[in-house]
Amino acid sequence: MSDVLHIVGGGMAGSEAAWQAAQMGVDVVIHEMRPEVETFAHKTGNLAEMVCSNSFRSDDSEQNAVGLLHWEMRAAGGIIMAQADAHRLPAGGALAVDRDPFAEAVTAQLMAHPQISVSYGEITELPDQGHWIFATGPLTSSALGRAIQAETGSEALAFFDAIAPIVYFDSIDMSRAWMQSRYDKGDTEEERTAYLNCPMDRDQYEAFIDALLAADKAEFHEGETAGYFDGCLPIEVMAERGRETLRHGPMKPVGLTNPHQPDVKAHAVVQLRRDNALGTLYNIVGFQTKMKYGAQADVFRMIPGLEDARFARLGGIHRNTFLNSPTLLDARMRLKSRPNIRFAGQITGVEGYVESSAMGLLAGRMAAGDILGTNIAPPPPTTAMGALVTHITGGADARTFQPMNVNFGLFPPVEGLKGGRRGRKDRYKAYTDRAKSDWRDWLDATQSEAIA
Ligand SMILES: Cc1cc2nc3c(=O)[nH]c(=O)nc-3n(C[C@H](O)[C@H](O)[C@H](O)COP(=O)(O)OP(=O)(O)OC[C@H]3O[C@@H](n4cnc5c(N)ncnc54)[C@H](O)[C@@H]3O)c2cc1C
Repeated sequence: MSDVLHIVGGGMAGSEAAWQAAQMGVDVVIHEMRPEVETFAHKTGNLAEMVCSNSFRSDDSEQNAVGLLHWEMRAAGGIIMAQADAHRLPAGGALAVDRDPFAEAVTAQLMAHPQISVSYGEITELPDQGHWIFATGPLTSSALGRAIQAETGSEALAFFDAIAPIVYFDSIDMSRAWMQSRYDKGDTEEERTAYLNCPMDRDQYEAFIDALLAADKAEFHEGETAGYFDGCLPIEVMAERGRETLRHGPMKPVGLTNPHQPDVKAHAVVQLRRDNALGTLYNIVGFQTKMKYGAQADVFRMIPGLEDARFARLGGIHRNTFLNSPTLLDARMRLKSRPNIRFAGQITGVEGYVESSAMGLLAGRMAAGDILGTNIAPPPPTTAMGALVTHITGGADARTFQPMNVNFGLFPPVEGLKGGRRGRKDRYKAYTDRAKSDWRDWLDATQSEAIA
């Protein structure tokens, strides 16, 4: 078998994967279809092109999960972070990047590496032989998308996301909300209490509909046409179809009794469902939306019980190719049905430049480990890298899997710390201290294995 690592897609994830593997001494070929075949979002033929905003978000590695991911990637000698730092623009606590010089510098550095070559052209099949990483991103070409579907089944590859907002459980007011499945369905107590319910009276419902209709909405991009979201309409579109539509859809109040007010029949009920095995995150069922982010937080905090809600992520609908990774990938990001193939980046169901690069970093190291004969274990879930990869490869609920940003809700709790808003600063510091220590240990262990 060939010792070369083939990486399909030279975006954020593919570039980082290539760098990591080459730095470990492995020969790498990057297969990139641009500029020969274009996407609607990319504008250049550069590797690691940032397609939209120029922000890597917060750079605070003590109090912010994405800042922690920056820290871990820097500690691992990542090319994306090194070049982002070299092309940093003033942006307060955020890491903003001068996008064209950044992408040009990543491209030049990768091309100059003696163990990396770039082959331009579209890959349209999943190969049977050799070591491969597919990092073709949210705009994976159609031909390759069809090949992936043929391998995984059409249900396991989505071409758009329909993201309902996700709320931190510890920010929900349980003196107003309660746990109950509709009609108490389920064989176990856990199933009978699988949903978190927030009741509304008529006035609250009417005010909510007014706010929904008035809220600022984002435009649809090319490819996000109505055909894509049949069956998962944005809530504001449902509200536009009639003020009662939501009460007969995701907000229907039937089969539920509010234990706080057993004699009062709710006019509408918003349901939230557990989003991760840890039970720290809940998604608002059926609440995919194109409302702008600022408007979403205001509108959703009108829901009784969510007045102080903190959001792990807000809702959206985008053109986005991604796998049902919890069912398809093993813990080392290999396709279970074809372990010679790994996936990395946004196609694995993470979201954003930083998260995509991070998953490239892991896939590159693990694939290089396979070639070098060292079996690199995934990092522990107490690190930002480990929390993210654990979520996509098993921690998330496969039935409702949607792309995810890194956030502290993905981390196993640190015991003995104060909960709620008051304890947040100390809690996040404890998460990030633990993560940094565990990430250093993981790097040391995998590096010494690779050298041994
Ligand atoms: C319209 C749009 C706007 C976005 N805005 C933001 C934003 O503001 N901030 C943010 O953080 N994220 C944004 N994203 C998400 C962003 O795409 C990812 O964060 C990041 O670029 C994903 O990295 P990746 O490496 O997985 O994919 P990409 O960076 O897209 O890289 C994938 C590469 O694979 C190549 N490719 C695809 N198919 C093939 C094939 N068959 N053969 C060979 N090469 C192929 C593509 O040309 C591309 O270079 C946006 C996405 C879209 C579509």
